[in-house]
Amino acid sequence: MSHVFPRHTKAKLPVASHGDGAYIVDSDGKRYLDACGGAAVSCLGHSDAAVTDAVRSQMDSIAFAHTGFFTSPPAEALAEKLIALAPGDLDRVYFVSGGSEAVEASLKLARQYFVEIGQPQRKHIIARWQSYHGNTLGALAAGGNRWRRAQFEPLLVDMAHIDPCFVYRGQEEGESEFDYGQRVANQLETEIQRLGVDSVAAFVAEPVVGATLGAVPAVEGYFKRIREICDQYGVLLILDEVMCGMGRTGTLFACDHDGVAPDILCIAKGLGAGYQPIGAMLCTGAIYDAIEQGSGLFQHGHTYIGHPAACAAGGAVLTRLIDDGLVERVTPLGEALHTRLEARFGQHPHVGDIRGRGLFRGLELVKDRETKTPFDPGHKLHAKVKQAAMNEGLMCYPMGGTLDGQRGDHILLAPPFILEDAQLDEITDKLDRAVTTALAQAGAA
Ligand code: PMP
Repeated sequence: MSHVFPRHTKAKLPVASHGDGAYIVDSDGKRYLDACGGAAVSCLGHSDAAVTDAVRSQMDSIAFAHTGFFTSPPAEALAEKLIALAPGDLDRVYFVSGGSEAVEASLKLARQYFVEIGQPQRKHIIARWQSYHGNTLGALAAGGNRWRRAQFEPLLVDMAHIDPCFVYRGQEEGESEFDYGQRVANQLETEIQRLGVDSVAAFVAEPVVGATLGAVPAVEGYFKRIREICDQYGVLLILDEVMCGMGRTGTLFACDHDGVAPDILCIAKGLGAGYQPIGAMLCTGAIYDAIEQGSGLFQHGHTYIGHPAACAAGGAVLTRLIDDGLVERVTPLGEALHTRLEARFGQHPHVGDIRGRGLFRGLELVKDRETKTPFDPGHKLHAKVKQAAMNEGLMCYPMGGTLDGQRGDHILLAPPFILEDAQLDEITDKLDRAVTTALAQAGAA
């Protein structure tokens, strides 16, 4: 009997034995092509010698030195590299152990910044529905995934939410994509005015929505308008690139594509690529200076921040992504994947939308293509797709839909950047069979 507490307590999971490039091999020798990076984590696949060597060599000198006492060469080096590549005025890096921690830190930093500069009335955070920012209570409160929030609502602090930029379901007839983007971006201004123009601290959003919507980028002009509104009202812009950052969408930071720089940027997943648990919050020099010239203490912290072995992994990952040119593979590979998905599923009666950017792609499954009606969530179609794909030897990341027309079940794909051309076909073939099986099991095909 296992004493591990799995997330899905009823699931019978295979045992991961070892990694082999883009594959995970289980204890029976079965191979699974990792087409989702777990949850958009494993951007280098599962046997990157450069990263494991970097971690091992750091472990040989020192594994852990508490940041209350020491900084470390890998933390300093990684921060320097990140800042050299980061957009806008981002100037300081606060290392944490994962995505939720990065978001928590950013929410608290935004609040503390305004206290430090004498604007303690700025206390509101605005976020978006249909987003995911993590499972800790602050990040969950910012997130707008109603299913994840539901049973914890009584514990969540009050944060405001506006609509996402979700063109497939939000665009009105006769409205251009650009106008749609401006319309939903302008909800931020309305919300700031409703809450009180000098009472909002920050707006937080994912540049490309991952777990909740399945690789949904904003339309052109949306984030430029968001940046304008934040500037006009003195609101900090926090971008959560925990999933879509670190090259996943073809640029090192997803916001590079939008031509917009945030005041605070959260990254994780791809930063450690799964070789170590690490996340980071990057902030502007202005925010850092306010703390330094004020109280001199960011009132936040965790035991494992700046963990040297984790930072060594991050440094080696960045070398692989930038110096070894792996990020440059993302756009062409992503387009090749999209072309194959379009060819296979473009006319499929139950695939309503194929979307995404770079190696971050999503398919939305619907009961009816014309009306975009989702399947009844009772079918648990997403879970059936996941299981059928695992049976085929494919890892993909499906998520459930809602009946209120907000979204259908979707399948998220986030394969490693080391993918070979033949593996694009393997993904499409196995996914096709998995979707067919799942639809049949749900009585829908
Ligand atoms: N933000 C986003 C956009 C995410 O996708 C996730 C994880 N799926 C998180 C935050 C939370 O990260 P973690 O699971 O590492 O705490």
